[in-house]
Amino acid sequence: MSTIFNAEQRRFLKLLGLSIPGESPILPQGSTKETDSAANATSSAHIAPSMAPGPVAPAAFDALRAAASPLPDQEKPNAPSPASLRAPNPPLPPAEAPPIPEPSLPAPSADPQRLAQIAASDWRDLQIMVHNCRACELGEIRQHAVFGAGNPRGSWLFVGEAPGAEEDRRGEAFVGRGGQLLDNMLKAMGLTRQQDVYIANVLKCRPPNNRDPLGPEVQSCLPFLQRQIALLQPRMIVALGRFAAQSLLQVTTPIGQLRGQTHHYQQIPLIVTYHPAYLLRSPLEKRKVWKDLQLALRVFAGAE
Ligand code: URA
Repeated sequence: MSTIFNAEQRRFLKLLGLSIPGESPILPQGSTKETDSAANATSSAHIAPSMAPGPVAPAAFDALRAAASPLPDQEKPNAPSPASLRAPNPPLPPAEAPPIPEPSLPAPSADPQRLAQIAASDWRDLQIMVHNCRACELGEIRQHAVFGAGNPRGSWLFVGEAPGAEEDRRGEAFVGRGGQLLDNMLKAMGLTRQQDVYIANVLKCRPPNNRDPLGPEVQSCLPFLQRQIALLQPRMIVALGRFAAQSLLQVTTPIGQLRGQTHHYQQIPLIVTYHPAYLLRSPLEKRKVWKDLQLALRVFAGAE
Protein backbone atom coordinates (compact mmCIF):
# COMPACT_ATOMS: atom_id res chain seq x y z
CA MET A 1 0.00 0.00 0.00
CA SER A 2 2.82 2.39 0.74
CA THR A 3 3.61 2.38 -2.89
CA ILE A 4 0.78 4.86 -3.49
CA PHE A 5 2.91 7.58 -1.79
CA ASN A 6 5.76 9.12 -3.59
CA ALA A 7 8.94 10.22 -1.82
CA GLU A 8 7.83 13.80 -1.16
CA GLN A 9 4.53 12.65 0.26
CA ARG A 10 6.24 10.22 2.57
CA ARG A 11 8.63 12.86 3.86
CA PHE A 12 5.75 15.20 4.54
CA LEU A 13 3.66 12.58 6.33
CA LYS A 14 6.63 11.82 8.52
CA LEU A 15 6.97 15.50 9.35
CA LEU A 16 3.41 15.47 10.58
CA GLY A 17 4.18 12.44 12.69
CA LEU A 18 1.78 10.25 10.78
CA SER A 19 2.73 6.75 10.19
CA ILE A 20 2.54 5.37 6.81
CA PRO A 21 0.76 2.10 6.58
CA GLY A 22 3.26 -0.67 6.13
CA GLU A 23 6.01 1.31 7.85
CA SER A 24 6.93 1.40 11.51
CA PRO A 25 5.38 4.30 13.46
CA ILE A 26 7.44 7.38 14.22
CA LEU A 27 8.61 7.48 17.80
CA PRO A 28 9.46 10.65 19.65
CA GLN A 29 13.16 11.29 19.88
CA GLY A 30 14.81 9.52 22.76
CA SER A 31 11.92 7.21 23.42
CA THR A 32 12.05 3.51 23.25
CA LYS A 33 9.45 1.40 21.71
CA GLU A 34 9.03 -0.49 24.95
CA THR A 35 8.60 2.40 27.34
CA ASP A 36 6.37 4.50 25.14
CA SER A 37 4.33 1.81 23.56
CA ALA A 38 1.25 2.52 25.69
CA ALA A 39 1.28 6.20 24.84
CA ASN A 40 1.85 5.49 21.23
CA ALA A 41 -1.08 3.19 21.21
CA THR A 42 -3.43 6.10 21.96
CA SER A 43 -1.56 8.87 20.20
CA SER A 44 -3.66 10.57 17.61
CA ALA A 45 -0.41 11.41 15.86
CA HIS A 46 0.06 7.81 15.07
CA ILE A 47 -2.52 6.80 12.62
CA ALA A 48 -2.33 3.13 13.30
CA PRO A 49 -3.97 1.03 10.69
CA SER A 50 -6.51 -0.04 13.25
CA MET A 51 -7.56 3.51 14.13
CA ALA A 52 -7.07 5.32 10.88
CA PRO A 53 -9.91 5.24 8.43
CA GLY A 54 -7.33 3.83 6.10
CA PRO A 55 -4.11 4.93 4.56
CA VAL A 56 -3.86 8.63 3.84
CA ALA A 57 -4.97 8.89 0.32
CA PRO A 58 -2.98 11.10 -2.01
CA ALA A 59 -6.13 13.12 -2.61
CA ALA A 60 -6.15 14.14 1.07
CA PHE A 61 -2.49 14.94 1.00
CA ASP A 62 -2.79 18.51 -0.21
CA ALA A 63 -5.33 19.31 2.48
CA LEU A 64 -3.03 17.90 5.13
CA ARG A 65 -0.11 19.90 3.86
CA ALA A 66 -2.16 23.07 3.91
CA ALA A 67 -3.24 22.36 7.48
CA ALA A 68 0.36 21.80 8.52
CA SER A 69 1.66 24.95 6.91
CA PRO A 70 4.36 26.48 9.12
CA LEU A 71 2.91 29.96 8.49
CA PRO A 72 0.67 31.17 11.26
CA ASP A 73 -2.85 31.72 10.01
CA GLN A 74 -2.64 35.46 9.96
CA GLU A 75 0.38 35.31 7.72
CA LYS A 76 -1.38 33.24 5.10
CA PRO A 77 -2.33 35.58 2.33
CA ASN A 78 -5.90 34.38 1.93
CA ALA A 79 -6.59 32.89 5.31
CA PRO A 80 -9.22 34.51 7.45
CA SER A 81 -7.46 36.39 10.24
CA PRO A 82 -8.15 35.38 13.84
CA ALA A 83 -9.68 38.79 14.38
CA SER A 84 -12.17 38.21 11.62
CA LEU A 85 -13.26 35.00 13.31
CA ARG A 86 -14.22 36.87 16.45
CA ALA A 87 -17.36 38.95 16.80
CA PRO A 88 -17.36 41.65 14.18
CA ASN A 89 -16.04 45.00 15.32
CA PRO A 90 -18.68 47.63 16.01
CA PRO A 91 -19.17 49.78 12.96
CA LEU A 92 -16.89 52.75 12.77
CA PRO A 93 -18.60 56.08 13.30
CA PRO A 94 -19.06 57.88 10.03
CA ALA A 95 -15.92 59.78 9.22
CA GLU A 96 -16.57 63.34 10.19
CA ALA A 97 -15.19 66.04 8.02
CA PRO A 98 -12.60 68.01 10.03
CA PRO A 99 -14.18 71.20 11.34
CA ILE A 100 -13.48 74.19 9.20
CA PRO A 101 -11.63 76.61 11.48
CA GLU A 102 -13.42 79.89 12.00
CA PRO A 103 -11.42 82.70 10.52
CA SER A 104 -9.89 83.96 13.76
CA LEU A 105 -10.16 87.69 14.13
CA PRO A 106 -7.34 89.35 16.00
CA ALA A 107 -8.18 90.74 19.43
CA PRO A 108 -9.03 94.44 19.12
CA SER A 109 -5.82 95.26 20.97
CA ALA A 110 -3.83 93.35 18.34
CA ASP A 111 -5.87 94.10 15.23
CA PRO A 112 -3.32 95.80 12.98
CA GLN A 113 -6.00 97.49 10.89
CA ARG A 114 -7.71 98.99 13.94
CA LEU A 115 -4.40 100.06 15.46
CA ALA A 116 -3.29 101.66 12.20
CA GLN A 117 -6.59 103.53 11.96
CA ILE A 118 -6.23 104.85 15.51
CA ALA A 119 -2.60 105.78 14.98
CA ALA A 120 -3.49 107.75 11.85
CA SER A 121 -6.52 109.52 13.28
CA ASP A 122 -6.86 113.22 13.98
CA TRP A 123 -8.65 114.51 17.06
CA ARG A 124 -12.08 114.48 15.43
CA ASP A 125 -11.68 110.99 13.89
CA LEU A 126 -10.44 109.68 17.21
CA GLN A 127 -13.51 111.06 19.00
CA ILE A 128 -15.76 109.33 16.47
CA MET A 129 -13.89 106.04 16.83
CA VAL A 130 -14.20 106.16 20.62
CA HIS A 131 -17.90 106.92 20.42
CA ASN A 132 -18.46 104.04 17.99
CA CYS A 133 -16.16 101.59 19.75
CA ARG A 134 -17.49 98.13 20.61
CA ALA A 135 -14.11 96.49 21.13
CA CYS A 136 -15.13 95.13 24.52
CA GLU A 137 -18.43 94.51 26.24
CA LEU A 138 -18.26 97.81 28.13
CA GLY A 139 -19.20 99.38 24.81
CA GLU A 140 -22.49 97.49 24.90
CA ILE A 141 -23.53 98.61 28.38
CA ARG A 142 -22.34 102.23 28.56
CA GLN A 143 -24.61 105.21 28.33
CA HIS A 144 -21.80 107.37 26.97
CA ALA A 145 -18.24 106.82 25.97
CA VAL A 146 -16.22 109.52 27.74
CA PHE A 147 -13.51 110.92 25.52
CA GLY A 148 -12.09 113.52 27.90
CA ALA A 149 -12.58 117.02 29.24
CA GLY A 150 -10.72 120.29 29.51
CA ASN A 151 -8.55 122.24 27.12
CA PRO A 152 -6.78 120.11 24.47
CA ARG A 153 -4.32 122.96 24.08
CA GLY A 154 -3.39 122.97 27.75
CA SER A 155 0.15 121.97 28.76
CA TRP A 156 -0.98 119.52 31.41
CA LEU A 157 -2.59 116.11 30.99
CA PHE A 158 -4.18 114.39 33.97
CA VAL A 159 -5.04 110.73 33.38
CA GLY A 160 -7.64 108.88 35.43
CA GLU A 161 -8.89 105.30 35.41
CA ALA A 162 -12.39 105.09 33.90
CA PRO A 163 -15.66 106.99 33.93
CA GLY A 164 -17.90 106.57 36.96
CA ALA A 165 -21.68 106.65 37.08
CA GLU A 166 -21.99 110.43 36.72
CA GLU A 167 -19.44 110.57 33.90
CA ASP A 168 -21.23 107.73 32.09
CA ARG A 169 -24.51 109.62 32.42
CA ARG A 170 -23.13 112.96 31.23
CA GLY A 171 -20.41 111.82 28.84
CA GLU A 172 -17.76 114.03 30.46
CA ALA A 173 -14.64 113.14 32.46
CA PHE A 174 -14.35 113.79 36.19
CA VAL A 175 -17.67 115.47 36.85
CA GLY A 176 -18.68 113.47 39.95
CA ARG A 177 -17.37 113.88 43.51
CA GLY A 178 -13.91 112.81 42.43
CA GLY A 179 -14.06 115.48 39.75
CA GLN A 180 -14.81 118.19 42.30
CA LEU A 181 -11.85 117.10 44.37
CA LEU A 182 -9.66 117.11 41.27
CA ASP A 183 -10.77 120.65 40.46
CA ASN A 184 -9.75 121.69 43.97
CA MET A 185 -6.36 120.03 43.53
CA LEU A 186 -5.91 121.90 40.23
CA LYS A 187 -6.93 125.15 41.89
CA ALA A 188 -4.36 124.59 44.62
CA MET A 189 -1.77 124.23 41.86
CA GLY A 190 -2.91 127.43 40.17
CA LEU A 191 -4.41 125.51 37.21
CA THR A 192 -7.87 125.16 35.66
CA ARG A 193 -9.26 122.58 33.31
CA GLN A 194 -10.71 125.33 31.12
CA GLN A 195 -7.28 126.79 30.50
CA ASP A 196 -4.32 124.60 31.42
CA VAL A 197 -5.40 121.02 31.69
CA TYR A 198 -6.84 118.21 29.62
CA ILE A 199 -8.26 115.21 31.49
CA ALA A 200 -8.59 111.73 30.00
CA ASN A 201 -9.02 108.19 31.25
CA VAL A 202 -7.44 104.83 30.47
CA LEU A 203 -10.90 103.35 29.79
CA LYS A 204 -13.41 105.36 27.86
CA CYS A 205 -16.41 103.38 29.12
CA ARG A 206 -17.59 102.73 32.66
CA PRO A 207 -17.01 99.24 34.09
CA PRO A 208 -20.13 97.90 35.82
CA ASN A 209 -20.35 98.99 39.48
CA ASN A 210 -17.06 100.85 39.03
CA ARG A 211 -15.11 97.60 39.23
CA ASP A 212 -11.44 97.60 38.32
CA PRO A 213 -10.69 97.60 34.59
CA LEU A 214 -9.87 94.16 33.22
CA GLY A 215 -6.63 93.50 31.37
CA PRO A 216 -8.25 92.99 27.95
CA GLU A 217 -10.32 96.16 28.41
CA VAL A 218 -7.18 98.15 29.13
CA GLN A 219 -5.41 96.52 26.19
CA SER A 220 -8.12 97.43 23.71
CA CYS A 221 -8.73 100.95 25.05
CA LEU A 222 -5.16 102.05 25.68
CA PRO A 223 -4.40 102.86 22.02
CA PHE A 224 -7.02 105.64 22.22
CA LEU A 225 -5.23 107.27 25.14
CA GLN A 226 -1.88 106.80 23.43
CA ARG A 227 -3.20 108.56 20.35
CA GLN A 228 -4.69 111.33 22.48
CA ILE A 229 -1.28 111.92 24.03
CA ALA A 230 0.40 111.90 20.64
CA LEU A 231 -2.02 114.55 19.40
CA LEU A 232 -2.09 116.66 22.60
CA GLN A 233 1.68 116.67 23.12
CA PRO A 234 1.37 117.79 26.78
CA ARG A 235 4.41 119.12 28.59
CA MET A 236 3.53 117.24 31.76
CA ILE A 237 1.48 114.15 32.59
CA VAL A 238 0.01 113.40 36.02
CA ALA A 239 -1.15 109.79 36.41
CA LEU A 240 -3.99 109.52 38.92
CA GLY A 241 -3.95 106.08 40.54
CA ARG A 242 -2.30 102.79 39.76
CA PHE A 243 -4.20 101.91 36.58
CA ALA A 244 -3.18 105.13 34.88
CA ALA A 245 0.40 104.85 36.11
CA GLN A 246 0.90 101.18 35.31
CA SER A 247 -0.83 101.40 31.92
CA LEU A 248 1.18 104.39 30.74
CA LEU A 249 4.50 103.17 32.12
CA GLN A 250 3.80 99.52 31.19
CA VAL A 251 4.89 98.28 34.61
CA THR A 252 3.26 96.36 37.44
CA THR A 253 5.09 98.24 40.19
CA PRO A 254 2.81 99.19 43.11
CA ILE A 255 1.76 102.82 43.14
CA GLY A 256 3.49 103.45 46.47
CA GLN A 257 6.82 102.76 44.77
CA LEU A 258 6.01 104.80 41.67
CA ARG A 259 5.23 107.99 43.62
CA GLY A 260 7.86 110.56 44.51
CA GLN A 261 9.97 110.34 41.34
CA THR A 262 9.87 111.63 37.81
CA HIS A 263 9.04 109.02 35.16
CA HIS A 264 8.72 109.59 31.45
CA TYR A 265 6.14 108.63 28.89
CA GLN A 266 7.85 108.98 25.54
CA GLN A 267 10.07 111.75 26.90
CA ILE A 268 7.18 113.60 28.51
CA PRO A 269 7.74 113.88 32.28
CA LEU A 270 5.17 111.87 34.22
CA ILE A 271 4.37 112.11 37.94
CA VAL A 272 2.31 109.49 39.76
CA THR A 273 -0.10 110.28 42.58
CA TYR A 274 -3.16 108.78 44.23
CA HIS A 275 -6.55 108.80 42.55
CA PRO A 276 -9.09 111.39 43.86
CA ALA A 277 -11.55 108.54 44.61
CA TYR A 278 -8.94 107.06 46.96
CA LEU A 279 -8.54 110.45 48.65
CA LEU A 280 -12.28 110.61 49.22
CA ARG A 281 -11.96 107.33 51.16
CA SER A 282 -8.63 108.16 52.80
CA PRO A 283 -8.48 111.96 53.31
CA LEU A 284 -5.28 111.69 55.38
CA GLU A 285 -3.42 110.80 52.18
CA LYS A 286 -4.09 114.26 50.78
CA ARG A 287 -0.81 115.44 52.22
CA LYS A 288 1.09 112.91 50.12
CA VAL A 289 -0.82 113.98 47.04
CA TRP A 290 0.00 117.59 47.67
CA LYS A 291 3.66 116.59 47.83
CA ASP A 292 3.35 114.80 44.47
CA LEU A 293 1.65 117.78 42.87
CA GLN A 294 4.37 120.13 44.15
CA LEU A 295 6.94 117.82 42.60
CA ALA A 296 5.01 117.99 39.31
CA LEU A 297 4.99 121.80 39.48
CA ARG A 298 8.73 121.89 40.07
CA VAL A 299 9.43 119.49 37.20
CA PHE A 300 7.15 121.52 34.95
CA ALA A 301 9.02 124.68 35.90
CA GLY A 302 12.25 122.97 35.01
CA ALA A 303 13.42 123.11 38.58
CA GLU A 304 13.91 119.32 38.70
N1 URA B 1 -12.73 108.42 37.97
C1 URA B 1 -11.91 108.39 36.91
O1 URA B 1 -10.88 107.75 36.93
N2 URA B 1 -12.26 109.08 35.85
C2 URA B 1 -13.37 109.78 35.76
O2 URA B 1 -13.62 110.37 34.73
C3 URA B 1 -14.20 109.82 36.89
C4 URA B 1 -13.86 109.12 37.99
